[in-house]
Amino acid sequence: MQNLTPIKNQKVKSEQLIFENIPLADKNWFRTGGNAKFYAEPKNGIEFQQALFFAKEHNQEIFILGKGANILISDNGFDGLVLCPKLNEFEIVQEDNEFALVKSGAGADFSDLINFCLENNIVGLEEFSGIPGTVGGSVFINIHYFEFLLSQFIESAQVIEKSTGAIKTVDKNWFEFGYNYSTLHKDAHYLLNATFKLKKVDDKFAAYSKGRRDEIIRHRQKRYPISGTCGSFFRNFFEHEIPFEICGKKIIFVAYYLDKIGVKGQLKVNDAIVSYQHANMIVNVANAKTADIIELAKNMQKLVYEKFGILPQPECRLIGFKEYPLYPINGPGSIVTETPEPDHWGNL
Ligand SMILES: Cc1cc2nc3c(=O)[nH]c(=O)nc-3n(C[C@H](O)[C@H](O)[C@H](O)COP(=O)(O)OP(=O)(O)OC[C@H]3O[C@@H](n4cnc5c(N)ncnc54)[C@H](O)[C@@H]3O)c2cc1C
Repeated sequence: MQNLTPIKNQKVKSEQLIFENIPLADKNWFRTGGNAKFYAEPKNGIEFQQALFFAKEHNQEIFILGKGANILISDNGFDGLVLCPKLNEFEIVQEDNEFALVKSGAGADFSDLINFCLENNIVGLEEFSGIPGTVGGSVFINIHYFEFLLSQFIESAQVIEKSTGAIKTVDKNWFEFGYNYSTLHKDAHYLLNATFKLKKVDDKFAAYSKGRRDEIIRHRQKRYPISGTCGSFFRNFFEHEIPFEICGKKIIFVAYYLDKIGVKGQLKVNDAIVSYQHANMIVNVANAKTADIIELAKNMQKLVYEKFGILPQPECRLIGFKEYPLYPINGPGSIVTETPEPDHWGNL
């Protein structure tokens, strides 16, 4: 870690753990946003507990940061403690000829986990190749790609309770996984590690799976922007939010509606532009501010609403804003000025 200022006069032994006024723009994919008031990179459960204790003692809000691939941070930064877990170890905890249980720390890079598995003839997770992020961020949102959801592979996990620092082992059901959802959204627990149940295969099948990984990455690189973005900015709609059918079907894909209004590669606010490759991806092509991205996203919301009467809501997590910065939803398809509770931001 560089340029980190240790904080003084704390009760916890955190001189080497908690740092002050740390830039976040270099720690997220949009490359925007202000500083964290406090910042820590806990490497184990004890350091995590110390950091939680520090936040409690000093009455600070907490935000857990992974690779920053699915967040937009306010230009004013985060007025609290940002915790970026560096629990990065992998372990094969059990295996036979058919299955393997692989445990990964929450801070591990998901692509490193995929590679570790493939090197050990363990397959399944390569379906998520090319999706940037940590294991923690991926479990948080239950990453998805076509028909695959990460929840299909999770067996158990260890989480730490925000209020007490207690570490407990939980099973898959505890997460109440859904589309873009896990119990971690309640902000009462943070992921320390997760154990995945995967297939054990022979050398030939492992070689095929490595090829599949490479093919998925190549495919993604052609279809999506690969930097300056958070991936899909808006989540897909739920069927009940769509009050009409097109050719006898309710179309839930937000990119479909964004495509129809012709924003791709066209709509922009300063250096924030809708990707020419994907209508639901906003890209910071040079020096955009978070405020530019917000203004662009609001324009996209408004255009979809005006044409179709439905209001896109973010998949991207909005961090450090004092007020909800986009048009919030209040019942399907209405633009209102009412502000939803912060816990529900990005998860409406
Ligand atoms: C180019 C691009 C393509 C993408 N494609 C896809 C895709 O195909 N499918 C898909 O599902 N997603 C996709 N995404 C979104 C993103 O990759 C995932 O959401 C990813 O899992 C984010 O992980 P992260 O570590 O960067 O999390 P961050 O962005 O840092 O954080 C996201 C959320 O996870 C929470 N979090 C992180 N770690 C923990 C933890 N240990 N405990 C509790 N909460 C935690 C954070 O607090 C935050 O609320 C894409 C993003 C980009 C930039």
